Amino acid sequence: MSSVGSTTAAKLARERQPHGQPLWLLAELTYKCPLQCPYCSNPLDFADTGAELSTEQWIDVFRQARRLGAAQLGFSGGEPLVRRDLERLIAEARQLGYYTNLITSGIGLDAARIAAFREAGLDHIQVSFQAADEEVNNLLAGSKKAFAQKLAMAREVKAQGYPMVLNFVTHRHNIDRIDRIIELCVELEADYVELATCQYYGWAYENREQLLPTRAQLERAEHITNEYRARLAEQGNPIRLIFVTPDYYEERPKKCMNGWGEIFLTVTPDGTALPCHSARMLPIAFPNVKQQSLEQIWNESSGFNHFRGDDWMQEPCRSCDEKAHDHGGCRCQAYLLTGDMNAADPVCAKSPHHDTILAARQAAEAPAHETDVTYRNERNSRVFARSID
Ligand code: SF4
Ligand code: SF4
Repeated sequence: MSSVGSTTAAKLARERQPHGQPLWLLAELTYKCPLQCPYCSNPLDFADTGAELSTEQWIDVFRQARRLGAAQLGFSGGEPLVRRDLERLIAEARQLGYYTNLITSGIGLDAARIAAFREAGLDHIQVSFQAADEEVNNLLAGSKKAFAQKLAMAREVKAQGYPMVLNFVTHRHNIDRIDRIIELCVELEADYVELATCQYYGWAYENREQLLPTRAQLERAEHITNEYRARLAEQGNPIRLIFVTPDYYEERPKKCMNGWGEIFLTVTPDGTALPCHSARMLPIAFPNVKQQSLEQIWNESSGFNHFRGDDWMQEPCRSCDEKAHDHGGCRCQAYLLTGDMNAADPVCAKSPHHDTILAARQAAEAPAHETDVTYRNERNSRVFARSID
């Protein structure tokens, strides 16, 4: 790896304003996954990354992050269930005092494994669905058995006493059936439902034209969700519906990751440490836990210090009176849409590149078919990796 953690970076870090602690650790245990979602947030070239961290290396990461103040630990991937040491990792995390969350597609889960996770001390399981219709779900997952398995596992998770947390990634091919999605969640007795539109990075960016809903679709879906919310509350149903719109239909960007290197720390399967799970795409040499301690990485590495503070900003952000609020938006989105990671996030109506967002909204009005997507799988990933070399 690079010269991250150099004396200059350390000096810069000391001179900067104090930053927060990595309260939230996301452990991307593996990039292996039996599904092929075209909106997956994993890097396009995931097939070309290095060997996965061993069990002991992960446990060491958990220990170090806990010492730095991390309180929540998310097990993610790829599909984290692929790791046969997941039970051991959960148990170690529990002993270290983390609140733990498993983010899974449900493929590879069974009743015995859920019971083992419970025994190991896992606090929370989130099962994701592609759609409420079997056909659309399986088509988007790239698996004929996915929907039936997810339904069975969602029921089992609830039966074993976990709160039912469901995640539906919404896009133009399922958002018109939001009523059916919500009804399915009610039927499954879900406690929390995240109806979150794709974030357009990684594979989702590659498939944006096939996935981005129109404004009319979004407004209708939000309206229906609000109606269900009111009706279900009247009926005394405690289900919580969380509706997240894509920032492509906003005029101001979000404060990405609540600030770069402020509270989030992601460690990828090969040990690369990132301030956000998408940041690997940026032309920054990020540090690796195999070569540096997490303390050095968090406090001193040039990767984590790159966008702390606002010295890096250029106009219009530099002199903008809203910069403390959104910190110039998402660095990955700026890079993807402008080729310049220091630019204002083009979602912002003040950005000179806001036309790229307007063009994407316009393109969403054209017909698109779900079969035209590029699936996230090893073969396609190798093609991307070769094109990057
Ligand atoms: S988004 Fe889909 S393909 Fe990507 S890791 Fe999750 S289940 Fe696998
Ligand atoms: S110009 Fe920059 S800082 Fe100002 S609102 Fe837009 S993205 Fe935020």
